[in-house]
Amino acid sequence: KAKELGGNQYQKASKALKNHALETIELTNALHQALEKEEMLLYYQPKVNGRTGEILGLEALLRWNRPGYGFISPADFIPLAEKTRQILPIGYWVLKTACQQCKDWQEKGFSQMKMAVNLSVYQINHPDIVQQVQSVLEETGLEGKYLELEITESATVNTNKQIEEVLKELKAMGITISIDDFGKEYSSLSRFKELSIDKIKIDMSFVQGIGINIKDEAIIKAVALLMTELKVDFLAEGVETKEQVDFLLRLGCYQFQGYYFYRPMPVKEFESVVNMKN
Ligand code: C2E
Ligand code: MG
Ligand code: MG
Ligand code: MG
Repeated sequence: KAKELGGNQYQKASKALKNHALETIELTNALHQALEKEEMLLYYQPKVNGRTGEILGLEALLRWNRPGYGFISPADFIPLAEKTRQILPIGYWVLKTACQQCKDWQEKGFSQMKMAVNLSVYQINHPDIVQQVQSVLEETGLEGKYLELEITESATVNTNKQIEEVLKELKAMGITISIDDFGKEYSSLSRFKELSIDKIKIDMSFVQGIGINIKDEAIIKAVALLMTELKVDFLAEGVETKEQVDFLLRLGCYQFQGYYFYRPMPVKEFESVVNMKN
């Protein structure tokens, strides 16, 4: 009996594995065609000056409108895209589309805002990255000072030492370099010191602990102080409540991104919001 049961469970586990493998293959194939089929699009989320309400810039966030599945979150397909390196063509498309959109908005007379684009660890460590960014700027006509590249801390550690050189070259093009999700992964302060980082985004997990967990509050205080001393710009992500805003403002953190102000929006909606603002 026990053997029967064991065999049964083994079959179940093996079937689940097979299903999982099939799903992964399916998803990989679908992802492969997603760009060609124009299933990818970008949403834009404003970054706000919490003192004045002014929109400081925006971040491009990838969306996949997969037929039969609806919108799939990047958190659900980027890990696979990275594993299969499909992130390289997808990431290039994101960069180009976002820069094109920013230039378009400038030509339409919207106020000149900086466009932030998330770069995968595989993009920032790709030997052609500087060349690729350069050619996107040339093709779209966007000036480097209107582009911000968001990378995570892990993209800067345990990789080739070359990243220092890459960041310098990007900065020489006028581009802003930010560290996304700051504090979420293991942070290396010595690595941080070595690299020329313009800005950090305090991870939303700390922000969401405001008023709930004094450890999160302590970390935010310390980070705000450190960044002020280092003269590194900082922004709080995932701001959802007035209490969080007030706490952050008291610490001198006034750059915000989060549902309290704006959700990520498709192009048309973003245009109506910016129109109202100016
Ligand atoms: P991220 O770059 O840290 O982006 C912030 C995420 O938090 C976004 O999720 C955004 O929609 C969400 N968010 C913004 N405000 C709030 C808030 O007040 N509360 C909560 N709970 N969430 C908020 P999204 O769009 O699902 O993106 C998830 C992650 O996927 C991004 O995190 C980024 O790491 C990655 N990602 C998105 N687009 C791209 C891309 O084009 N390329 C690459 N490599 N990664 C991307
Ligand atoms: Mg980001
Ligand atoms: Mg983030
Ligand atoms: Mg994130």
